Amino acid sequence: MAVAGPPDPLSPADPPHRPEQAEPGQTDQPEQVTFLIVGAGFSGLGAAIRLKQVGYTDMAIVERAGDVGGTWRDNTYPGCRCDVQSNLYSYSFEPKADWRESFPSQPELWAYLRSVASKHGLQRYLRFGHEVTAARWDADSCRWRVSTTAGSFTARYVIAAVGALVEPSLPDIPGIESFAGTIMHSARWDHGWEAAGRRVAVVGTGASAIQIVPSIQPEVEHLTVFQRTAPFVVPHTNHPVSPQVSGLYRVLPASQRASRFAIYWMRELLAFGFVKNPKLLKRAELAWRKHMESAIADPVMRAQLTPAYDLGCKRVLPSNDYYPAIARDNVSLVAEKIIEIRPDAVVTADGAEHLVDTVILATGFHVTDNPTFGKITGKNDQTLASAFGSTYLGTVLPGFPNYFQLTGANTGLGHSSMLLMIESQLNYIADGIAKTLAGDAPFEVRAEVAAGYNAELQRKLPRTVWGSGCSSWYLDSEGRNLTLWPGFTFDFRRRTREFRTSDFTIG
Ligand SMILES: Cc1cc2nc3c(=O)[nH]c(=O)nc-3n(C[C@H](O)[C@H](O)[C@H](O)COP(=O)(O)OP(=O)(O)OC[C@H]3O[C@@H](n4cnc5c(N)ncnc54)[C@H](O)[C@@H]3O)c2cc1C
Repeated sequence: MAVAGPPDPLSPADPPHRPEQAEPGQTDQPEQVTFLIVGAGFSGLGAAIRLKQVGYTDMAIVERAGDVGGTWRDNTYPGCRCDVQSNLYSYSFEPKADWRESFPSQPELWAYLRSVASKHGLQRYLRFGHEVTAARWDADSCRWRVSTTAGSFTARYVIAAVGALVEPSLPDIPGIESFAGTIMHSARWDHGWEAAGRRVAVVGTGASAIQIVPSIQPEVEHLTVFQRTAPFVVPHTNHPVSPQVSGLYRVLPASQRASRFAIYWMRELLAFGFVKNPKLLKRAELAWRKHMESAIADPVMRAQLTPAYDLGCKRVLPSNDYYPAIARDNVSLVAEKIIEIRPDAVVTADGAEHLVDTVILATGFHVTDNPTFGKITGKNDQTLASAFGSTYLGTVLPGFPNYFQLTGANTGLGHSSMLLMIESQLNYIADGIAKTLAGDAPFEVRAEVAAGYNAELQRKLPRTVWGSGCSSWYLDSEGRNLTLWPGFTFDFRRRTREFRTSDFTIG
């Protein structure tokens, strides 16, 4: 049965994704600002709040979509939830006493970000429907010249907060464009689509897939899950936050800070296993096996669901309902490689044709090859795409004067909240601005400082669990890990505490 659906799996089906575009060419005069922030997710909003807190208000935040929220605006698939506790996955300066659950769901996180933006009066700085199409350093004027789909800007500083998991990656499967049913990427969910009675293929078994599968399994007629490599799926400890606990947080904010502190240290202990001694993760592997075997009785399926790499090498995924969903009668797990998509079927290497009317691509994102990186050009016509691997502290790059990157190279985490890294970067940026704003001279990190730093990281990374031999989205096309921070978050916090002027040329 062919079902009409959106022909382009990347097309934004949900109104919040659709940019509220201004008329092209509406304004020819560039808007001049001291600070131009690109992106209105956790990073961009956090940057704007930090600038305001230290008294800088000559700024604009350009955002290609029609609302704030970034990840938590775009990923509206059923079951989408953060896998870090709400008390840690929130700004340290904006605790929320009344989280509904201990691990926040996407709608709650999106609402949180909207309310934080509103509380801090960011509306006047936000320019929705402004997608950056080019940003170029102009050495003569020492300003960035930035073009967007709805007007241009000149800025003394650019703070790029364009996200790391933001550009959906589509698999290169022959025939994919011929599929006649509904095909959509997990980050572009089509809310007009109804699961009831469908024959669905979910491609991928990463973080989004393991949330989607149990959410739609009870409704669909049949679900085929196409797995390239088995993930480690471990027990989830999510639970509702009781009114008593919220009440306590409200009257005694220190109790919520204590909870955050405890969660923080529990997670930092995990980093010890990931980075220093992967053998420590063996106990977690035992817990995983118990969890998997308690839901899966079939020995063949157990073998299919057993990863062939060390726990931690790929992202460890928490879920209590993924394995039970996989075991249901209306679900098939296929570990054969997909070789073709036909108008009504997915074909695998063993020649099997799996008839489906919907394909859900839970295939992740362009991480180190984000297309926006090719649109940002520093000195000597060098783009961010080619310079990405030379980023210093994930934040500044040689050849990119007065430029800050949030969640840049090697700032990702396998064990804790990205907010910890983002806030560290904001400290560094605020200090950098304070130390360079008075003169008009641009700053640029010294090439040898950035090279020494990256050599250190690339020496460390192969000895971590992520270098233990699996293929993952943490690695780029050359097998380099430009994604993860190989250490404790307190170490990153320490290294970003001060913008050391000796690391830079200024002038
Ligand atoms: C499904 C999912 C689950 C996740 N779960 C976790 C988790 O459990 N724990 C965790 O720590 N992290 C998690 N993350 C990572 C998450 O992305 C970060 O924690 C955080 O939200 C990043 O915020 P950000 O502002 O840097 O980027 P984003 O939230 O991606 O925001 C970037 C913004 O930039 C805008 N933008 C991009 N390009 C342009 C352009 N050219 N012009 C204008 N605007 C542009 C985008 O529209 C977007 O609004 C998850 C990510 C995803 C996708």
